[in-house]
Amino acid sequence: MSTVSFADLNLAPEILKALTESGYVTPTPVQAQAIPVVLEGRDLMAGAQTGTGKTAAFVLPILQKLLPLSSASASPARHPVRALVLVPTRELAIQVEESVKAYAKHTRLRSLVVFGGVDIRTQTPHLKTGVEILVATPGRLLDHVEQKTVQLNQVQVLVLDEADRMLDMGFMPDLKRILALLPKQRQSLMFSATFSNEIKKLSADFLVAPQLIEVARSNATAENVTQKVYLVEQADKHALLAQLLRGSDATQVLVFTKTKLTTGRLARQLQRDGFAADAIHGDKSQLERIQALDAFKQGKVTVLIGTDVAARGLDIDQLPMVINYEIPSAPEDYVHRIGRTGRAGASGIAISLVSPEEEKYLKEIEKLIKHEIQKENAVVQHQSARPARAPRGEHSERSHTPRPAAPKKPGHDAWFDKPYEPSASAFSNTAQPVEQVSEKPKKQVAALLVRRQG
Ligand code: AMP
Repeated sequence: MSTVSFADLNLAPEILKALTESGYVTPTPVQAQAIPVVLEGRDLMAGAQTGTGKTAAFVLPILQKLLPLSSASASPARHPVRALVLVPTRELAIQVEESVKAYAKHTRLRSLVVFGGVDIRTQTPHLKTGVEILVATPGRLLDHVEQKTVQLNQVQVLVLDEADRMLDMGFMPDLKRILALLPKQRQSLMFSATFSNEIKKLSADFLVAPQLIEVARSNATAENVTQKVYLVEQADKHALLAQLLRGSDATQVLVFTKTKLTTGRLARQLQRDGFAADAIHGDKSQLERIQALDAFKQGKVTVLIGTDVAARGLDIDQLPMVINYEIPSAPEDYVHRIGRTGRAGASGIAISLVSPEEEKYLKEIEKLIKHEIQKENAVVQHQSARPARAPRGEHSERSHTPRPAAPKKPGHDAWFDKPYEPSASAFSNTAQPVEQVSEKPKKQVAALLVRRQG
C-alpha cells in the first residue's frame, strides 16, 4: 500500500514545518494529485468541493514556486503580486488568506486579502507595501485596479477558487476584465465543486491544455455525513429545532433558512429559548458578519443561523452538525449546505426539517444525490409556555446552557491515511440513524446536572 506523504511532494522544509505545525500528516487526495501538476507548471481544472483540502492543494505548490523569488528587501518593488487568488465571497477570501499565512509563516512571502464592504482606504497601504500572494473578490480587486493601488502585470499564477459559485454570482464580466489585465504567459488553476457546461466553457476559455482532476464527483454528498429528514408541519419547526438542539451534544450547529427574515426571527426566538444563537446573512454589515463568524468559531455562539450566503466558504474545523430549517429549492444548494459538516474526513450530521409543502424539493434533492434520505415523522413536544428553565423532557438537563466549544483537535483523521483513490465512490448510502453515529460524551451532561442540583 503506497501512501503519498508531504515529503514525497518536493516541498521545501519551511513549508513542511508549517504543515506539521498545522497538524497535517498526510496529503488529502486532491493535494496528492494537484501539487505535482502545479509544480510542473501545468494549468489545472480541479473538481473538488470545499472540505477536501483544496486550499492547500493550490497554496502549497504556489508557495514552493515563489520561494526562490522571496525577498528580504523592504522595497515594494521586490514584492510584486505574483499569485492572484480570486474567490466569490468575503468569508472565503478571509479563510483562504488565513491558510496562506499559516502555510507561509516560515517563509518571507507576503500575502494580503482584499474584499468589498469595507473601506478601501484601509487596504491600500498594505497593498502598497507589496505582497506576493493576493487573495481577492473580483469587484474589490477591480476597484483597486481603477485606483491604481495594485499592479497585476507580474502575476505568474492565477487561481479561480469556487469558480462555479463565481459564475452563479454573476462575476463573469469582472473575471473577463481581470483576466485581460494579467500577463498572457501564466499558469491558471481552476477549482469548482461542479462541472456544469458553463464551467467547462470557462475552463476552455481561460485554461491552456489543463490537467483534469476530480476527487469527488460533482453533486456528491460526503460519505461521512449522516443525513436525516424529519417530516414536520411548518408551524412546528421552531419547537422541533429547539428540541433537536437540546438533545444534541454538538457544540457548533449551523442552521440554514431560506430568507433573511426567517434567519433574524429564528435567531431571536432561539435566544429567548436560552440558546447562544446568532444570525448571519447578506444584509448584515461586513463587520457584523465577521463578528458573528468569530463568535461561532470561538464557541461563544453555538447556533449560527444563516441563508445560503453563509454556506460557501465557511471553514470551521469539525463542524459537527448542519440543520436545514427550510430546505433549499435548488437541490445543488443542499449539497453545498451539508458540505459544511463532515469536512476533511471528520464525521458530521445533516438534519433537514421538511414540511409537506417542501416535499417536492426533497424529491429533487434525492434525485440529485442519487439516494433516498432516511425519513422520520417528527414527534414535537409542545411546551405550554415559553420556558424560562429547562423543561422536564428527556434531554432537559442539557437545555438552556450554551456549551463552550470542544477543544479543537489537530486536523488529522484516519481518512487521510487511505491510499489515494482517483474517484471517490460518492453515492453509497451510508445513512444511519442519528443516534447511532452521535456518540455522546456524557461528561458534560453530568457536570451540568451537578451544577443544577447543587
Ligand atoms: P478546504 O477544503 O481547503 O477548505 O480544507 C478543509 C479543511 O481541511 C481545512 O480546515 C484544512 O485546515 C483541513 N486540511 C487541509 N488539508 C489537510 C491535511 N492534509 N490534513 C489534515 N487537515 C487538512
